[in-house]
Amino acid sequence: MSQAQTLTAVQSNPFAKGCAWQDGDYVPIAEAKISVLDWGFTKSDVTYDVVHVWDGAFFRLDDHLDRFLRSVDALRMTLPVDRAGLAAILHGCVARSGLRESYVAMVCTRGLAKPGLPRHPANCENRLIAYAIPWVWVMDEEMQARGAHLVISSVPRIAPESVDPTVKNYHWGDMIRAQFEATDRGADNAVLLGPDGTVAEGPGFNIFALIDGKMVCPDHGALEGVTRQSVLDLCAEIGVPTEVRPLHPDELLEADEVLTCTTAGGVMPVSRVNERIYHNDRPGPVSAKLRELYWKKHKEGWHATPVDYGDN
Ligand code: PLP
Repeated sequence: MSQAQTLTAVQSNPFAKGCAWQDGDYVPIAEAKISVLDWGFTKSDVTYDVVHVWDGAFFRLDDHLDRFLRSVDALRMTLPVDRAGLAAILHGCVARSGLRESYVAMVCTRGLAKPGLPRHPANCENRLIAYAIPWVWVMDEEMQARGAHLVISSVPRIAPESVDPTVKNYHWGDMIRAQFEATDRGADNAVLLGPDGTVAEGPGFNIFALIDGKMVCPDHGALEGVTRQSVLDLCAEIGVPTEVRPLHPDELLEADEVLTCTTAGGVMPVSRVNERIYHNDRPGPVSAKLRELYWKKHKEGWHATPVDYGDN
């Protein structure tokens, strides 16, 4: 959209740049606020999930709701609405924005300490915030077409014994450092190893490596990505065997192909890791096929829940 078109859209719909839900109201995204005293801000005591809307439909909405509700339980938080209420809020945010392609987040923060009670996380008022904003690519389309250049970061991912990576979280200190290191080393992005030296994940994506004809992804130290599940499903569909097991960085460097995957990007092939160049510096055939199939199946309505745009 051009700047002029964006301006016209925002003038006719205050939610065109995004819509948030907080404290029972829908507000334009620029008006959504969080207190500086919220433990989500002061202590990263927060969990979240992100589902995408493509061509007017949520993708794998139930899987994202399942994971978010599991994460909220794991952190001993409480939501002000049930699952159906949460889904209705997400539909409400997208519907008001009018977006057909959107990045849709649900966030639960620990909230503010209740006055007069001991300073303990159990004594905070948890807070739900949801929002829909225009589509975001973790790696842009040009990068996906040539294959991303990654480096194995010298910064290890935070220990899973300290912060459970299967509970989607904002503990990104390690990943932010890794992203700066990647830029300093002339790469697009980074892959982090866990404290045990095996491959964990990258800033906002999971990793797969094609080894001896099998698509392998780490079995621990990473978020159990919804897109990772899609890749496993697509591999089954095209007859590529898969393995979910510890993945050593040497195997990554010796693999025939490497790909990354995430909600905000889908299947994103890799053409370099460190000095290793795969497949003539372009996406390998299996990664390219998985990427194409992922989007083709979106068009066909795979795991799609149409957004209820109603009268908004
Ligand atoms: N790993 C991390 C740390 C992430 O933040 C994300 C997504 O944001 C992923 C992996 C990919 O997960 P999903 O496919 O569910 O988006």
